[in-house]
Amino acid sequence: MENKHFIRTIIENDLKSGKHERPITRFPPEPNGFLHLGHARAIIMNHNLAKDYRGTFNLRFDDTNPLTEDALFVEGMKEDIAWLGCHWDNLFFASDYFEEMYERAMVLVKKGKAYVCDLSAEDIKATRGDLTTPGTDSPYRDRRVEENIRLFEAMRAGAFEDGACVLRAKIDMASPNMNMRDPVIYRIQHSSHHNTKDAWCIYPMYDFAHPLEDAIEGITHSLCTLEFEDHRPIYDWYVEHCEMPKVPRQIEFGKLIIAHQVTGKRFIRQLVEAGVVDGWDDPRLITLSGLRRRGVPPEAIHRFVQALGLPKTEGETDVEMFNEYVRDVMHATAPRIHAVLDPLKVVITNYEGDVETVMNAPFHKDDETFGARPVHFGRELYIERSDFLPDKPDKHWKRLSLGLEVRLMHAYFIRAESFDTDDRGQVETVYCTYDKRTKSGSGFKERKPNGTIHFLEATSAKTATFHLFENLVDPDKDDSLPLEARLNPHSKQAFSGFVEAGVPFEEGDAFQFTRNGYFAVDRDASEDRPVFNRVVALKSSFKAPGRKKRT
Ligand code: ATP
Ligand code: MG
Repeated sequence: MENKHFIRTIIENDLKSGKHERPITRFPPEPNGFLHLGHARAIIMNHNLAKDYRGTFNLRFDDTNPLTEDALFVEGMKEDIAWLGCHWDNLFFASDYFEEMYERAMVLVKKGKAYVCDLSAEDIKATRGDLTTPGTDSPYRDRRVEENIRLFEAMRAGAFEDGACVLRAKIDMASPNMNMRDPVIYRIQHSSHHNTKDAWCIYPMYDFAHPLEDAIEGITHSLCTLEFEDHRPIYDWYVEHCEMPKVPRQIEFGKLIIAHQVTGKRFIRQLVEAGVVDGWDDPRLITLSGLRRRGVPPEAIHRFVQALGLPKTEGETDVEMFNEYVRDVMHATAPRIHAVLDPLKVVITNYEGDVETVMNAPFHKDDETFGARPVHFGRELYIERSDFLPDKPDKHWKRLSLGLEVRLMHAYFIRAESFDTDDRGQVETVYCTYDKRTKSGSGFKERKPNGTIHFLEATSAKTATFHLFENLVDPDKDDSLPLEARLNPHSKQAFSGFVEAGVPFEEGDAFQFTRNGYFAVDRDASEDRPVFNRVVALKSSFKAPGRKKRT
């Protein structure tokens, strides 16, 4: 199912050459928000590589920035990864290595490869130079080792205020790679940390912490996204000069980017904080919690991620490609029932007597193990408002209108005879007649109906709320506009309608509602009024290469 990718080749060669006995991979999120579909690429790939080559997969929280991180996000991320079914062999926190990181930084200090620098953050930036100009050496660069040891110890002990000084690596201020121009290793930050509380007032920078975390855990193949390619020399420099016993290898791959979707925790956070969406798990977001709430099966995420493989380049993927995998999975797993989202009442004027059961309709037409349920018919029914046209239709109209006859799915042909309107001129009730001889399955062939529509018998239908979603961002708006100006005002619509009664609706349960799409039960549902989120519509124009047509 997976497109074989270059990292598999690297791992296979490393196993063959005896460089490694088995791979150790990790997913290293920073707990500063919730995970999204892009992260799923990194999670699934790291997880599967470890699994397929009998290795180990670590979940490691890269929690080195007390200002943005929170235990709440740790829990949320664990829940999302578990939901994906990517079970981790070990759970680690980078903050558990703070002591070792400090000692490794001290190794650099003692070797004269790191120094305490009193320049302000602005001055450090101003003296870094740029791509065409070398940087200039800090006046503190040649501090003696003993002085650096004393100052670094004092930094740790809390002798200085935030920003008073930093520990920097002593590499090369003229390096063509800006990341090698004496990067900062430790900063002073008097803040409480979600894990270590007030034990530390200095915190390691990402570029220093990350390779050490990998090396401490014995990670063999450290996968990261392409923007870290320029950081690989500094990654290797720290592993080497901190004298880490194990040497991980950083390998970059392309980010998964979904066109016209809000990704990046920073941007999602903006929407959450501005109240544009109802929290991190709003079904319009492609956060994993949002996808879960919407009702997307995790299997669809796996298939999608695996089909894309691990490209070395970054490119946008259309959300419709993802939706096709969602349909594929739900096609096989979701029972099919009827729901009328935007109901219009129909009265069958020539129907006498009680409600009848017209047939036992299967829950899935390709899979009889789903079983069947009774379909009711009676004098009062609901159809979709959009299935009746009060005006004279043209020849392309294949649904109900005055004088036209349609088949009610699983039941009879009905003909519209007249209709009522309310004070606003909206159609209120359509009066129809039915023909007893046309019962579904009766073999009646004398007339051809003007299309087939679904319906619900009114007394047995259950009221329900339906949420339909569109893209949160309007794909037709210019990408250069700020996010607020690109939002689609119709991204969420709620309908009050009806669904078949007699079927239990538990949170997360998925259904195909005939002609309306795939839906799942939202957690807000109550027993007498379920709420459904549309996961995906039934059809799209997108064709994945080599996929079979569904029925
Ligand atoms: P964001 O910008 O959304 O906050 P991030 O890269 O800052 O993402 P981290 O928590 O640092 O988030 O990322 C954890 C891991 O997920 C990293 O190894 C990163 O490379 C990977 N990752 C993040 N975004 C994507 C993406 N769009 N596609 C694939 N992998 C990703
Ligand atoms: Mg980040």
